[in-house]
Amino acid sequence: MLKRGVFKTLFQSVDALVTGKGRIDDDLFDEFEEALLAADLSFRTTEQVLERLKGMVRDKRMSTAQEVQDGLKIALTEALGDAGDTKLKVAESGPTLYLMVGVNGVGKTTSLGKLAYRASKKEGKKVILAAGDTFRAAAAEQLGIWAERAGAELIRQKENADPAAVVHDAIIAAKTRGADLILVDTAGRLHTKLNLMEELRKIGRICEKELGRKPDEVLLALDATTGQNAVPQAKQFTEAVGVTGIVLAKLDGTARGGIVITLRQELGVPVKMVGVGEGPEDMLPFNPEVFVEALLG
Ligand code: GDP
Repeated sequence: MLKRGVFKTLFQSVDALVTGKGRIDDDLFDEFEEALLAADLSFRTTEQVLERLKGMVRDKRMSTAQEVQDGLKIALTEALGDAGDTKLKVAESGPTLYLMVGVNGVGKTTSLGKLAYRASKKEGKKVILAAGDTFRAAAAEQLGIWAERAGAELIRQKENADPAAVVHDAIIAAKTRGADLILVDTAGRLHTKLNLMEELRKIGRICEKELGRKPDEVLLALDATTGQNAVPQAKQFTEAVGVTGIVLAKLDGTARGGIVITLRQELGVPVKMVGVGEGPEDMLPFNPEVFVEALLG
């Protein structure tokens, strides 16, 4: 899932250090601190993980590299904490609708395409992709390619059309054809926070009117390779709109997956899916245990 990273090297040096000194001392914890920060954990989280690890080393009298490695795994899993509800919500009746927001280039359209592929090809669902980013014709074109790949239907309108109108069309089409899932791309521009809020509010109203409820998920796409920079960006979005889950794209492009733990701690929004490549099958549901294993692996 992740590139082999800092922890791999770290554990090799833990082995050498513990064997050489026969004990775990402050120098070793300093090395852990460096590795955790290098893996994109925030300072606060790093301190918390180290305190926990120190406690374990003391209480359990850990002395081998393997014991410390296991301890770190426990401390990281705890830091990820209650990972929240990592499962994507599915409507009890009628089509389920997800909105995808996020700045350009983070992997929004690709992630939507992969979600469509997964639902359609793996779960046998009937999927509609709605091109709600009406500012860029290229965005709809790109979504169209994914629709074809996934065997999903594409709903789009002319350039600069009202995104809410596209969502309206998509819901009507889904009802008519008995579709299970509507995936909506948005322009997601944040330079005008008010515009984005207004756009999403309008889409929300259409959903309430036509589906009888709000979107089932408002997913924020983030680029894992931007590391800590993703945090303020994510905060802006979560403050502007009710984000219900994070889709973390490009996790394959970084060895610094600690950003997942930082996001969880700083935003309180669960990571629900992770993107691990550009192909249609490169999207996985987020699993905390598997993730910590991969982070340390
Ligand atoms: P958007 O502007 O947010 O819709 O971003 P795109 O979906 O167009 O993605 C931008 C670039 O990132 C494209 O080249 C994608 O192929 C690439 N990309 C998206 N998700 C992933 C991922 O999980 N892993 C990798 N390696 N590349 C990705």
